[in-house]
Amino acid sequence: MAEPLLVLNPEDLDRELKKIAAYANHPEAGKWFMTVAKEHILNLDGADRDENFVRYDPELLRPGRYDGMPDPSTLPASMIADLCRGVEITVSDPAAIQSTPFVMPPWAEEALREGKTPWLFDSVQVRRRKVWEGIERILDWFNSAVMADANYAQLSFQRADRTANRWREEVDKRYDPNNVPAKKPEGTMASAKCPKCGHEFQYPYNRYRACIAISCPKCFELILLNFEAS
Ligand SMILES: [Zn+2]
Repeated sequence: MAEPLLVLNPEDLDRELKKIAAYANHPEAGKWFMTVAKEHILNLDGADRDENFVRYDPELLRPGRYDGMPDPSTLPASMIADLCRGVEITVSDPAAIQSTPFVMPPWAEEALREGKTPWLFDSVQVRRRKVWEGIERILDWFNSAVMADANYAQLSFQRADRTANRWREEVDKRYDPNNVPAKKPEGTMASAKCPKCGHEFQYPYNRYRACIAISCPKCFELILLNFEAS
């Protein structure tokens, strides 16, 4: 397996992941985004990598490379990323730069000398990218069909991505707002048995009343529900 990317501004990546994790209904699900999803992003390759990260290139950061180029030492990481993409940026009012200027972490100079490639996470318009759309779909699936006591630490990114996709397809196919199952009293529980691992568990009706699937808290298998119409 390839090495994870050396990222110069991991705090920008963490900030985006926290925005997702903060909407998770269960703390363990939130942790999953900060660990498993983060690891997935740090191992992206090909087009997905190039959509999210920019190769750090000191050559393109030389002050005065073109007329009107702002001093790179005053710029936030997002603008350093633009420069490293070869984009010419101009800042007419230096006071307009509100963010903290980007500072190379101490380890990065050494990494550069060793011939390693540091990368900048591009933190502008993150949510339009394919991998982040997938992460948001996983969040929706977690919040709708996966329970608090699920075995999140065992769930790989690939499996979550696949299952969330399938869940989304089932919702699109089967959800009918005019035929939502009756709301059962608070605390009403139903039983289910996972067809894959045999785990028997209970889930609350009310939380899933408009839901068409639940997931096994042990192995995350998607279990389609057949609510009777009220
Ligand atoms: Zn199971």
